Amino acid sequence: FLTLGIESSCDDTSVALLEGPRRVLSWKISSQIERHAAFGGVVPEYASRMHLEAILPLTRAVLDEGGVADPAKQIGLVAVTCGPGLMGSLLVGVMTAKAYAQAWKVPILGVNHLEGHIYANMIDHEDLKFPFLCMVVSGGHTEIVLVRGCGEYQMLGATQDDAAGEAFDKVAKALGLPYPGGPVIDRLSAAGDAGAFEFPDVLHNLEGLDFSFSGLKTAAINQVNRLRQKGEEIPLEDFCASFQNTVVKTLIARLEQAVRLTGVKSVAISGGVAANSAFRRAVAEHEGWKSFLPSKMFCTDNAVMVAAAGCAAWQSGRRGGLDLAPDPALDFGEDEVVGE
Ligand code: ATP
Ligand code: FE
Repeated sequence: FLTLGIESSCDDTSVALLEGPRRVLSWKISSQIERHAAFGGVVPEYASRMHLEAILPLTRAVLDEGGVADPAKQIGLVAVTCGPGLMGSLLVGVMTAKAYAQAWKVPILGVNHLEGHIYANMIDHEDLKFPFLCMVVSGGHTEIVLVRGCGEYQMLGATQDDAAGEAFDKVAKALGLPYPGGPVIDRLSAAGDAGAFEFPDVLHNLEGLDFSFSGLKTAAINQVNRLRQKGEEIPLEDFCASFQNTVVKTLIARLEQAVRLTGVKSVAISGGVAANSAFRRAVAEHEGWKSFLPSKMFCTDNAVMVAAAGCAAWQSGRRGGLDLAPDPALDFGEDEVVGE
């Protein structure tokens, strides 16, 4: 059973061909990051135009490389990210998917981008079984999800303001580092002293399993400005390592709580920040749970995870149609209040 996956929710155009639930036949990504870097962030209008230029050649190349000569006969499902994300970006993916589905007369399914991120874990881990906890940490999300089954997602906690990735990016920007700042901070931190700078306790006064990163972000940016005003040089490695360490400690603390509250001891992570080496190490080496890490290339946005989520949804009986429409604010899962 072949699934064609399409992802275009933000600034990456990606197409993937998946056989069964996890065998990647071919996949490609066209990143716009360098084109947006000049603006210090993603410019939505520009992003949708670049998706439009990239998506058809990318799909053709993926089909060729995957050995699909007759898609109408060979493709079993077209899966596409239908939200949340940028409206103009989502539209390009959804419209392309619908056009292919109609031309080939194959079924189509919309995939929630967060469901996609969670399914990135399934590619590499056949032994990952329900229920498990998944922490989705990316540029727009910081959430702990209890995954009971395909399509059964309970949100245990979420950020009340900034996402962890956003905090990485904004702090990096204040330090004069290029966009996106997360990977740069990760690299610089390797040579830094994580105890050199002190940052406030992020979870102080926060109930349940929620997060807040805006206070930490502001504290870090203020610290940068203070040092600059005093004419002091900022020890980049130390600063990055200390900031990164604070974020990682926060994420791990919440995961520990989630394991304690649910009794679920399988822990997966996903989203761009799940590519962070300090975070990966902390999750992998933790003794209180069994950890599952997607490979780094499937942490950030990609169509393989979308194809995997779509295929699983199809197999579990979910059906869709050509009335599929993009939803920039698509809801995800059910809220569950848990607390100690
Ligand atoms: P969302 O999934 O919430 O819509 P997105 O699609 O923009 O957001 P992803 O591609 O999943 O996000 O992740 C991008 C984010 O991950 C950016 O904020 C980036 O800085 C961060 N990131 C990527 N690699 C690393 C890393 N090694 N360390 C820390 N952060 C990282
Ligand atoms: Fe994402």
